[in-house]
Amino acid sequence: MRDFSNSKRAFAEADKYMPGGVNSPVRAFKNVGGDPLFIAKGKGAYIEDIDHNKYIDYVLSWGPLILGHADDKVVADLQDATTRGTSYGAPTELETELAEKIQAIVPSLEEMRMVSSGTEATMSAIRLARGVTKRDKIVKFIGNYHGHSDSLLVDAGSGMATFDINTSPGVPNALAYDTLTVAYNDVEGVKSLFKEHGKEIACVIVEPIAGNMGVIPGTQEFLQTLRDETTKSGSLLIFDEVMSGFRAAYHGAQSLYHIKPDLTTLGKVVGGGLPVGVFGGRRDLMENITPAGKIYHAGTLSGNPLAMTGGLSTLNQLSEDLYTKMTANTKRLMAGIKQAADDHGVPMTVHSVGTMWSYFFNAGPVNNFDDVKASDTAYFAKFFKQLLQQGIYTAPSQFETNFMSSKHTDVEIDKTIQAFNNAFDAVQKQ
Ligand code: PMP
Repeated sequence: MRDFSNSKRAFAEADKYMPGGVNSPVRAFKNVGGDPLFIAKGKGAYIEDIDHNKYIDYVLSWGPLILGHADDKVVADLQDATTRGTSYGAPTELETELAEKIQAIVPSLEEMRMVSSGTEATMSAIRLARGVTKRDKIVKFIGNYHGHSDSLLVDAGSGMATFDINTSPGVPNALAYDTLTVAYNDVEGVKSLFKEHGKEIACVIVEPIAGNMGVIPGTQEFLQTLRDETTKSGSLLIFDEVMSGFRAAYHGAQSLYHIKPDLTTLGKVVGGGLPVGVFGGRRDLMENITPAGKIYHAGTLSGNPLAMTGGLSTLNQLSEDLYTKMTANTKRLMAGIKQAADDHGVPMTVHSVGTMWSYFFNAGPVNNFDDVKASDTAYFAKFFKQLLQQGIYTAPSQFETNFMSSKHTDVEIDKTIQAFNNAFDAVQKQ
């Protein structure tokens, strides 16, 4: 058995100063029981906790670290940038360079704004949609998560799903009232909502490949319906690609479906582990943002030079070829995990798109949040703890996504498949 005593002590100390001992809820391991691991360092595909236990890491900071931990080039570029100062609050050429790079990869972002988190990106995109259309209602999908701004904390995924909360105390009723929710992948539900409310809807925001209830790809018909209905009713379509951007595919989920949203939000990989979010899209819409237009957006640290450097250094190392390799590795891992479950007679559904992957203790099919909720979360909790014992660090919730990096090689994948087999053996012995 691994010794976690230093993490346990660190958590008790942290709990004196921070609610629940953490700065973001799912980190606390509350739903899987036990205390969170405190991390000392990471390199490549591996992290090490403060008890000197090593793990193959598939959380990767919840997505950003597509090049793994402490990539040599990213570290060198950041060290270099730091010597020139950490922030100026004035424009730098780095911002234009990153914007150019992003546009080359995801061309639907004709213009964009840099922010410091995914939450800020989606919040600002929603304000833009409401400001431009002069409508208040927005549509989101049950089990999709778009950060923690008021209008979007309704029937959300991620921590809200993990802790079974529909909305948060503190979200004004008036705002929650303007957020209409529909089941994910429910084509008829979307059509009837637009029939009734079409002219009141400012925008639809959607994770084209949902990652905050485990991985659930949107169907082509579903996403096309969103494109058609928003166009017909004069509302905007926002693809929230904070997670799927540079993850589901090099050019994002929008390239897989050949659907062009009006606005896109990005985050995670776009900052390479530093705080960056982006919202952008049609130039005629973006030109409404201050100071070009009147819809307000600002940020002291927006476009921060270190954050821009983290993003640039990361994006400059990505390529189609790298995604082909990482996607093949992810598929091989999925096949191995599914085989392990089958060999142990455990019902399991595995989903992956590009470098995003998840497994559900559920015979499937898993196409929406109701399906995910039917998964065996008690089994998940037991299994997660066994994976830790085996040196595998995965997302501590059935309602989250795991990730692959460029540093996970055949060696790590083989070790992980063996660890899944061992974890099944261990749970079955309990
Ligand atoms: N949108 C999506 C699709 C996300 O996955 C997340 C974070 N997991 C967010 C928005 C919010 O991003 P952040 O945590 O950086 O605020």
